[in-house]
Amino acid sequence: MMHSALAFADGTSSDIYRDLYDWFLAHPVFERWYQGSPWQLHCVGGPGSGKTTLAALVSEHIAKSKHFSRSIVVHVSVQHDVCARELEFLEDLLLAIYQELESKSEENDEDDEDSEDLFDIYVQERQKLGGCRVSRRIQLLQKAVYSCLANLPKSSHVYLVLDGYDRCSLTLKTLLDNELSALQQKDLSIFITSRLAVYENIESRCDHLNHGGAPDDDPIDLEDREVLGLCLECQVCEDIMCFPCRDAGRICRKCGNNDGLKEPYEFVNIRIGQIPNDQMTKYITWNLEREHGDLKLGSSAQKPPLSILGESLLAESTLNTAGALVERILDLALGDIGLAKARIDLVHEMESISDMEARRDQLPANILAMFDAGLRKLEGRSPEEKDLGLKAVAASGRDITGVSIPVMQRWLHQSISEDTRSGEDILEATNGFLFATTGDAIQKIQVYHTSFYYYVAKRHNLNLFEADRRLRADNARRMSSFAEVQASAASQVRFEPRDVPAEPAERTPFKLQRTVTAMDPIMEPIDDGPAHPFILRKGTRAWN
Ligand SMILES: [Zn+2]
Ligand SMILES: [Zn+2]
Repeated sequence: MMHSALAFADGTSSDIYRDLYDWFLAHPVFERWYQGSPWQLHCVGGPGSGKTTLAALVSEHIAKSKHFSRSIVVHVSVQHDVCARELEFLEDLLLAIYQELESKSEENDEDDEDSEDLFDIYVQERQKLGGCRVSRRIQLLQKAVYSCLANLPKSSHVYLVLDGYDRCSLTLKTLLDNELSALQQKDLSIFITSRLAVYENIESRCDHLNHGGAPDDDPIDLEDREVLGLCLECQVCEDIMCFPCRDAGRICRKCGNNDGLKEPYEFVNIRIGQIPNDQMTKYITWNLEREHGDLKLGSSAQKPPLSILGESLLAESTLNTAGALVERILDLALGDIGLAKARIDLVHEMESISDMEARRDQLPANILAMFDAGLRKLEGRSPEEKDLGLKAVAASGRDITGVSIPVMQRWLHQSISEDTRSGEDILEATNGFLFATTGDAIQKIQVYHTSFYYYVAKRHNLNLFEADRRLRADNARRMSSFAEVQASAASQVRFEPRDVPAEPAERTPFKLQRTVTAMDPIMEPIDDGPAHPFILRKGTRAWN
């Protein structure tokens, strides 16, 4: 029996729009990963961003791919939060990998007796009267799995797709990181989905004299060079070289050759929260037409006869009402698939376009309920975590462009029982509602979506409102000078995920990275109450 949180994932459901993640599967970073990269691929997206669907599509894609003559995919998912029995979780993950490798070995493979013997020892120890301790069970399983991987024919390649890594406690993540890193060394390709990006405080810039095509006598100042998502490091002299420099034929100047160049990181993040507009438009039109019939939007959906709303949308044939509706959903979703779905669900409930106009400027009840459900998960944690989580979310509602981590910490530390040690603690406590920005001189923490910002700022949630009120009161009482924060922030480290944007932006080589001074917004205690109470409607989606 497996740990209750761990399960083999089922394939994709038939009710998905399969083309939504084509951009991801065609992404050069994804392609490099599945052709056997030396790093793990971490796919990061906020609540409801479609990570599970993507994991299923990735498994399918690999299984069909012809890059290796045989691809074995171990696809497991973490079903719920794991805060206890973490070592058993690790044991069962290894067990799942071993069993998949065994069951997917082909009959004509030579029997891998070494691994089977090792596995038998594990089974015997586990079944011993009174059992054997967990660390020994894990060691025995590791031996069996590693041996199995080492004995696979060269033409085979093994992938581990792990969905829901963010549901693991920080302790378990640390255990898993070690194990995944060891598995990666044994040539297993690892794909993870998570709400949170893993932290790193490495900031790499290209060291090459001619970076950006600059001549020898006029190189770009190091601090003016862009921070690199992907890069190479010379193992001999430790100089960093960017891929464009390597591809332009530049050579490590200290060593006179490029033999030592290696990618120096263990993982690469791709954010999936931002679906490109053209894919999103196709998704919205598909979803509308499969429900309301042929709205002349030209989607690939199987179209039923026109619904009442469908007829209403087509009534004024001169106006492109359906097209305008698509545009409107696109604008409000801002690339987020979860919010696009919620908006479309609302449309499905309506009978005419005037219903829609009546509430165009409110946050709809199903989206409010979605956010409420997400926050209830934070509230279910330990009192300290709950306090930190709610106050951090409340504080993030003070600035839509984000709050710098030192300022956020200062606010929080005046109000919570135990100080945070890093931005990581804040992000862990807020479970994907907040994320750390990249590219700011002082890294900021920001709400994951504009709609969520309005939810926070307009005080739609009573507990959040209460947390905000207490935070403001504590801050007002203990206000110290801003200069003090700046001084304490001077020696900060960065917690920057190694990040590849969904659509790689054109890099201007001479772009300046200017230092931005963090502004400390004036904090006044506020006393106005929460926004109007709201009523739950049908069609509300469970979301956590
Ligand atoms: Zn360069
Ligand atoms: Zn070198």
